[in-house]
Amino acid sequence: MAEIFPIRLYGDPILKKKAQPVQDFSGIPQLAENLLETMFEARGVGLAAPQVGLGQRLFVAAEYLDDEGAEEGPEADLKTRIKQLYVMVNPVITHRSGQQSITEGCLSLPGLYAEGAQRDLQVRVEYQDEGGAKKTLEAEGYLAVVVQHEIDHLDGILFFQRMSFADKQKFLDLHREDLADFQRQARAFLREEVGRQAAGKQR
Ligand SMILES: [Zn+2]
Repeated sequence: MAEIFPIRLYGDPILKKKAQPVQDFSGIPQLAENLLETMFEARGVGLAAPQVGLGQRLFVAAEYLDDEGAEEGPEADLKTRIKQLYVMVNPVITHRSGQQSITEGCLSLPGLYAEGAQRDLQVRVEYQDEGGAKKTLEAEGYLAVVVQHEIDHLDGILFFQRMSFADKQKFLDLHREDLADFQRQARAFLREEVGRQAAGKQR
């Protein structure tokens, strides 16, 4: 059974930290399954380990089939529309070309979407799969943005930090209240977590 993790929100310090390379792959298949399940539950296209509080260099992502006009209720199961799943461990972009900017969102900044993050149009990514086998992916367009967005999470970077200074200021001003609210929720979560850990040690 896959476990669904709480997703860390903007303001949580783990989102600013550089994650460490994965060396021991023994727990990675289960972790990847948990990340995928957490991503589906949150209806996301990508989720990086730091977003669930783990400082390891891996992320999961999905491409979905278009739902061809079907009414998609909140309960509609994304898993029926999977085109391709990705589990990328220790990913490195080894080639990049072109430029693009599309609307991005982030599960750690729920509900906020903005265009303006400067991205490469095409990337080549070298990575390991959940078993440690070396792989290469050539991605372009939307998938290339997803890959860059998720790898940025492994380096402690959020998408609005890839915007021009003016666009970034606009984003921060426009969403000031939401961002402050995420920070409050992140602090509350961490306080509870400290409490849970202390309670665990007493047992
Ligand atoms: Zn994100």
